[in-house]
Amino acid sequence: MADLLFREDAYLKTAIAEVVACHGNGVELDRTVFYPLGGGQPGDIGALIRSNGERVPIADTRKGVSAESVLHIPANLPVPLEVGEPVTLEIDWQRRYALMKLHTALHVMSCVVVAPVTGGNIAPDKARLDFDIDINLLDAARIERETNAIIARGLETETVWITDEELDARPELVKTMSVQPPRGVGRVRLLRIPGVDLQPCGGTHVRNIGEIGAIRVVRIRNEGKRNKRVEIVLA
Ligand SMILES: [Zn+2]
Repeated sequence: MADLLFREDAYLKTAIAEVVACHGNGVELDRTVFYPLGGGQPGDIGALIRSNGERVPIADTRKGVSAESVLHIPANLPVPLEVGEPVTLEIDWQRRYALMKLHTALHVMSCVVVAPVTGGNIAPDKARLDFDIDINLLDAARIERETNAIIARGLETETVWITDEELDARPELVKTMSVQPPRGVGRVRLLRIPGVDLQPCGGTHVRNIGEIGAIRVVRIRNEGKRNKRVEIVLA
């Protein structure tokens, strides 16, 4: 179980950690700023830097077998690291920050399109949500205009923790039918955009939605009976 530093501060680009385990498929550290793939957001890439200056490139980050363990997937094997050695962590910040902007933009857009969310994905250059809705109700110009109007309000985002029981008592908080919030650790993390959105999410978000700037709706298409897909990019 690693200390997930990105949860408390998504803006950490670097940290010092200790190697806890080297598996065939990845490196575990005692603490990390690398976000592991989850909730539609890809895992971070970057490097682990040894005390002699050697850089170990990290090509992906995934969740490990136990809850809250994180596997840093090296670009090259074998990994030249030893258990117990200190490393400096460095994420590809430009990529992560783009993911944070697009991820937070999806939260805003999910309030503009009032329909159940049936899927979603975030990439560094684009993001999408699928809705269970009549496709004729999806108007690209309106979605873009209303999403950007909310972004322009420059609201601060907040992280809120509630218990599993509190979440069970408020099922309306779970908009995303395909991604149920992680359970079993006793508490669930929510993202709140005051007056706009409140929903369970373990991803990384911008502090102020104004940082998104603006979005552009690039495509709306039918991906199935319950999947009408809206794809966005940063404007
Ligand atoms: Zn989120």
